[in-house]
Formats: sequence, structure tokens, C-alpha cells
Amino acid sequence: KVVCVTGASGFIASWIVKFLLQHGYTVRATVRDPSNPKKVSHLANLEGAKERLHLFKADLLEEGSFDSVVEGCHGVFHTASPVRFKVNDPQAELIDPAVKGTLNVLKSCAKSPSVDRVVLTSSMSAVAFNRRPKIPETVIDETWFSDPDFCRELELWYTLSKTLSEDAAWKFVNENNIDMIVINPTMVAGPLLQAEINESVEPILNIINGKPFPNKSSGWVDVKDVANAHILAYEIASATGRYCLSERVVHYSELVRILRDLYPTLQIPDK
Ligand code: NDP
Repeated sequence: KVVCVTGASGFIASWIVKFLLQHGYTVRATVRDPSNPKKVSHLANLEGAKERLHLFKADLLEEGSFDSVVEGCHGVFHTASPVRFKVNDPQAELIDPAVKGTLNVLKSCAKSPSVDRVVLTSSMSAVAFNRRPKIPETVIDETWFSDPDFCRELELWYTLSKTLSEDAAWKFVNENNIDMIVINPTMVAGPLLQAEINESVEPILNIINGKPFPNKSSGWVDVKDVANAHILAYEIASATGRYCLSERVVHYSELVRILRDLYPTLQIPDK
């Protein structure tokens, strides 16, 4: 089967591409700049890439950019979205590429009758950020949706971009009769395949380098589990709706302890 992965050079997407190639799929992978070796050489070196990986140039903000990639594909894994927690212009840097980009990819899917399912990488950012009371016993599940006004009030711009893009995606697929499964991971950690460090792994590097860490807890999940969940969501016919992915919730100080136990030779300093 032929499938497409958008934003293929990213942290999570690179693992999705690796596992798809291992499963025997032919993969059409989109990147913004296929001539940049930092973005593509790790993909080209994957097992099966020579025979079954095809790179395409596509940009979330370019209307029609994904048409030729998606045409003829059976599955579409839409992972591309800017992941940045600090921005100057939230609308231009986060919200437009996330929302317009998702609609752009879905419009290409609507034009291609070969597409049997879309798997969208959303986030727990689109699930948990609302005014509902949260106590330690509260279970946050797939029935929860983040509240855009709450995100705006707290200036959680990345969270807002994921909330608005998932909302827009559900509206579009319901109107256009597209089968979509949404994956909502917490913070994702694990080994990098790509050359450049990404936003969710950076806090771990910061701890190793003795930089201050925030006084808060987060859900965490392994990148290989996240990639596998995307593929299961595509392959299991009965999969439906959204799937929250969280292995456990840990405070940053606990992360320090875990890293110290795992890698005693790193001599992680106190902060
Ligand atoms: P990365 O930063 O590693 O990857 C993001 C990808 O998005 C990059 O490959 C980038 O492409 C692409 N992208 C960004 N802007 C554009 C654009 N304008 N046009 C085309 N492509 C663009 O992030 P992750 O792997 O961490 O994230 C992947 C997905 O998972 C995102 O949707 C993110 O919101 C979601 N997610 C991530 C979590 C995490 O903790 N990491 C947690 C929950 C959800 P290029 O390389 O070509 O520039």
C-alpha cells in the first residue's frame, strides 16, 4: 500500500516513516526542503528507503501543495505542524500553519478517492486545557476538548494552534465524509532519528546540562509507542475517534531522578 507522511523529517514522523517502511509500505514523505541533508539524510538511510521512500516538497501554507503527493495514496498521516513554545507572532508562526495547513492536507484528501483513512497527529494540548476542575482523581480522556478562549487568556499559543486545528479537522472530515483517527499524545520523549533536537526533547537536554526546570508535572510517552499508535490507528479497521497517549505523569524533579538513575556517568548537576 502507498501512504503519505507529512512533515516526515520531524521527531515523531521519522519514527512513523521507519516503522511504515518496516511494515512494507511505500511511503511518500513530505518535507519543506528536500535539498537540506539535515532534514532528509536520516530518512534516506532507513531500511527499505532506497526501494520504497519517495520525498516530496510541500508547505502547509501553500494552497494545493499536497495534491500530487496525496493523489493515489491509501493512508495519510498528517503530522506536520509547527512545534514551538516561544513565538513573536502566534498567528503567523503557529496558528496559520497549523489550521490552514491541516485544512490544506484534508482538502487534498477529499480530492483523492484512493484515500481510505487519515491519521492526524493532534496533542493532549487539544484535550486538557479548559476550565473543568482538575483534582488528582480527575481522569482526562478522549471526551475532553480544550477551550480556545482559555488558551488565549493564558497565551498558550501552541496549545491554541493544536486545539483550533483539531477542531477544524473534525468539522472538515464530517462535512466531507473522510475517515479520520486522531492521536493525542502528551509530551513525547525517546531517541532521535533526526539531526536537530525538537521542542519536547529539549527540556530533557536542559536537565542534563544543569539548566533550571519548571516546577510542574507533565504526561510523557515514548516516541516509538506514539509512532506505533499511528500505524495501528491506520491498520485496525475498528479504530475510531481520538486516542490519548500518555505513559505516565511525572514532575520535572522526578525526571532529574530518573535521568540520574539511568545515566549515572552524566553527573547531572542540582538546580
Ligand atoms: P518536529 O518539530 O520534530 O516536527 C514538526 C514537523 O512539522 C517538521 O517536520 C516540520 O517540517 C513540519 N512543519 C512545521 N511547519 C511547517 C510548514 N509550514 N510546512 C510544512 N511542514 C511544516 O515536532 P514533533 O515530531 O515533536 O511533532 C510532530 C507532530 O506531533 C506535531 O503535529 C505536534 O504538534 C505533535 N505533537 C508533538 C508532541 C511532542 O511532545 N513532541 C506532543 C503532542 C503532539 P520541516 O522539517 O520540513 O520544516
